Amino acid sequence: MLSGFSACPGLFYPTPAQDGTLSRIRIPGGSLNSRQLCAIAQIAHQCGGGYADVTNRANLQIREIHQDIDAGVMKRLQDLGLGSSNPAVDHIRNIMTSPTAGIDSQELIDTHPFVQGWENYIATHPELSGLSAKFSVCFDGGGIVSVCDRLNDITFAAVLIAGKVYFRLYLSVGAKGEPPSDTGILLLPKQCLPVLATLANVYLEHTDITSRRKLRFRELLNALGCDNYLQQVQQHLPFSLFVNQQYPNITSKVSTNNYRHIGIHPQRQPSLYYIGVVLPLGRLETRQMKGLADLAKKYGSDTIRLTPWQNLLITDIPQQWVADVVSELADLGLDSSPKNINSALVACSGKKGCAASATDTKSHALGLTEYLKTRVALDRPVNIHVSGCAKSCAQHSKSDIALLGISWEENNRTTEGYHIYVGNGDCNQKFGREIYQSVAVAELPTLLEQMLKVYKIQRINSSESFGEFANRYAIAQLKHLFASSWQRSGSGAGGRGR
Ligand code: SF4
Repeated sequence: MLSGFSACPGLFYPTPAQDGTLSRIRIPGGSLNSRQLCAIAQIAHQCGGGYADVTNRANLQIREIHQDIDAGVMKRLQDLGLGSSNPAVDHIRNIMTSPTAGIDSQELIDTHPFVQGWENYIATHPELSGLSAKFSVCFDGGGIVSVCDRLNDITFAAVLIAGKVYFRLYLSVGAKGEPPSDTGILLLPKQCLPVLATLANVYLEHTDITSRRKLRFRELLNALGCDNYLQQVQQHLPFSLFVNQQYPNITSKVSTNNYRHIGIHPQRQPSLYYIGVVLPLGRLETRQMKGLADLAKKYGSDTIRLTPWQNLLITDIPQQWVADVVSELADLGLDSSPKNINSALVACSGKKGCAASATDTKSHALGLTEYLKTRVALDRPVNIHVSGCAKSCAQHSKSDIALLGISWEENNRTTEGYHIYVGNGDCNQKFGREIYQSVAVAELPTLLEQMLKVYKIQRINSSESFGEFANRYAIAQLKHLFASSWQRSGSGAGGRGR
């Protein structure tokens, strides 16, 4: 195993955490087969905590590793196509694409070949080990399940112009957390990988690759200026980057996923379906991993697709087997209903896995949904994001409801709680608009219950998300709406600064 090489975990770069060592396995595009999933399950069982977590880049992460994963096991994983074939570049961020690439009924282009092409390029160009470990790339095919709202350094988003598919180039520039910026550049599909390779090479030209703390791509772009950077890229290319800039209004769909992939959905291939499976907090026990691998092999095309929303799809299921798969999922303790309160619940590692966390996010998130699941009947996913600090590792985009962990001293005791945010804020309001401060963990369940119940009564219609509902009101109005029913419920006496 390599160590001390990268601040970011990888298969070859185990990272210490409070609950043991953490190993992250890159799954380009999130797509893996049953043998690969079983191999990871075996490692999680033998060396780790008996589970794996799907991350927000559709990696799989094994935690609580208390013994070294030996070189033979690593080699077996590589032979199965897991991790990078070149350990020197294994720390680079996983390549993101829509989990429904190739099966999405509305997509403009299947992005899998681009993911594989870039993965192969990385593996065969060891000089890319000089990239920041956070160098992140995304391909969006313009389908229903969009990944355009995910934060990436470089996004290629498919658009249709006069019957022809192009990729619009978006780059991460400006303040941290800002959505990628539209460069106005339209590329033919065959131009994407050469442009990507050149964007990476220009980064390397300006970076001290021996430095442990490498500049983020965004930081370099800010320092050099985006136009200047693109001019330098242009000098290395045999075609013009700027030839198609006469289409400023044809941008990629600005859509958020809203967990539309959860549940049973027809594919673009006639009579085939995919099932989006809910994973509470992205966690899979090893027995579930093996069961899912069996299901994918028995009923589907032996493919499991992990999503950046920390859940997964089983694909290519013939219509007549869909009910059987749903039933066998239930036997594994899994469910595919968008009404499941866990369907859009996200939490970072929290206190057990991260020293920076003020709270035990995962336990609190699970306790919250355990309470809510029998009290609030949802008919669409509500994205609740629980974060142990402002870094917001688990989800970089805005959620419907965000809980930011804090702790304070009260009566000689440390109390854990959360600031609560709703909907969209401006770019300086990373978590949305703050509605409550310092709500103790014990008070969260009843407060969230009332917020969700009020949302269900007051929303315009059932397709309005919680975030959209919240955005229609000033914070004072929302507080008034929630308070009247919260206080009626007998809670609401505690909290600080509310
Ligand atoms: S958001 Fe903060 S507390 Fe949570 S894992 Fe990231 S750094 Fe740790």
